[in-house]
Amino acid sequence: MLVRKFGGTSMGSVESLNDVVKIVKSFHGKQVIVVSAMSGVTDTLLAATNAALAGKRSKVKKTLAAMLARHSDAASKSISDKKILADTNAYFERTIAGLSGFLKAIQELGELSIRSKNTIMAVGERLSARMLAGVLSDAGHPSEQLDLEKAIPQKFKKADHDFYVATEKIFDKKVKKITSRKKTPVATGYFGWVPGGMLDSVGRGYSDYCAALIAAGTKADGLEIWTDVSGILTADPRKIKKAKIINKISSEAAAELAHFGAKVIHPQSIHPAIRAKVPVWIKNTFRPRDRGTAIFHEVKNPAQIMTSVTNKKGVTVVNIASFRMLMQYGFLAKIFNVFAKYETPIDVVSTSEVSVSVTVEDNSRLNEIIQELSPVSKISIQAKKAIVCLVGMGIYKRRGVAGEVFATLGRAGISIDQISQGASEINITFVVDEKDADKAVAVLHKKFFENGQR
Ligand code: ADP
Ligand code: ASP
Ligand code: MG
Repeated sequence: MLVRKFGGTSMGSVESLNDVVKIVKSFHGKQVIVVSAMSGVTDTLLAATNAALAGKRSKVKKTLAAMLARHSDAASKSISDKKILADTNAYFERTIAGLSGFLKAIQELGELSIRSKNTIMAVGERLSARMLAGVLSDAGHPSEQLDLEKAIPQKFKKADHDFYVATEKIFDKKVKKITSRKKTPVATGYFGWVPGGMLDSVGRGYSDYCAALIAAGTKADGLEIWTDVSGILTADPRKIKKAKIINKISSEAAAELAHFGAKVIHPQSIHPAIRAKVPVWIKNTFRPRDRGTAIFHEVKNPAQIMTSVTNKKGVTVVNIASFRMLMQYGFLAKIFNVFAKYETPIDVVSTSEVSVSVTVEDNSRLNEIIQELSPVSKISIQAKKAIVCLVGMGIYKRRGVAGEVFATLGRAGISIDQISQGASEINITFVVDEKDADKAVAVLHKKFFENGQR
């Protein structure tokens, strides 16, 4: 069985829905489809929530009317069977009326719980899954929406390993219920209840992760992520025109790239697939014949040493100097414990004899962290930084690679703040000013990927 996930652009228009139908129908084995909301809908839902909190009822109403019109329009242009169309439209109307009432209550309360936010966010994927199930059934491929919004019991307190293993099992059961009726499940890429809330625990792009959990739970033969590019490229093709497709990548390198900003796949999505030994492919909905990128658990003797270069903006650097000016025993442990206590993940760490620098993306609890570390250290903060990451399988086999990287950046007039070399065997990661981040990617791409040097 295959698990096939279609992203926002793939679901975004009548034409793209047609492409999705062709891809689904061209595979004759068992499959589970997982979908994102239509492109832009998740952003719209967040904006409508903010409008409700700000008391702007007419803006909310307008936004919801447009959302209903967009879905109904796509459905009526894609579904010819009258009954399927009427049922689909009735579902859209019910769901958006429910959302409208919900947002009104939030406006009156003036506050938003994590649970309420979950309920609102889920609407995007609930609508798109129902739409695709209708479109596929109409096209002669019997399908059924699988709504995962309330699939997980609320008893879980932490989104930890046990939670996700339990979640995979629940998804497997739900999928089997539908496949036993000889229908293809079209699952919402949204799943609840995730302790801590979907946006904080998993983050945007969560439907990749949902698809990976389903693939792991059902022990699928493969997970396909269908998107708007023909795989993972050597850099973001929106920024680097000469970026090239990578045919094969190790799961480790793919996870590293995703983590450091290549948003083509959600960074966590690789892990459930690795655990369950499910191979992953990234494919292009609009060019289905392109090979795409295969992510395997082990890629022996990779053809390319350098894989890709990426950046992640909006990073804050925290410099922590020990008052004793020496890395006395326990100082590092203390620092990491404080960041862990305030649930603030650290990305890049570099140490010298007298200080430690770490980068964080989430600086919402930085004040508490500073307060707790101040008695033992002197702290300074640098905002508006970016992490640049060069990933390569066997990157350190190329001698002097770090020197080449820094010389290239030096020639481009970009200064480097913090280097984390060798934290993993497959990347070189460093921090630059946010304003230099795109230029750093461009010059490194040119150096390592555009001259046939790989
Ligand atoms: P979807 O809605 O299908 O999930 P996303 O927008 O989340 O799609 O991800 C696809 C986008 O990821 C591409 O359009 C591309 O601009 C971006 N991207 C960033 N870095 C890379 C990379 N290294 N390779 C491919 N795509 C990348
Ligand atoms: N629609 C959601 C988002 O925009 C989930 C996804 O696309 O994966 O983040
Ligand atoms: Mg995505």
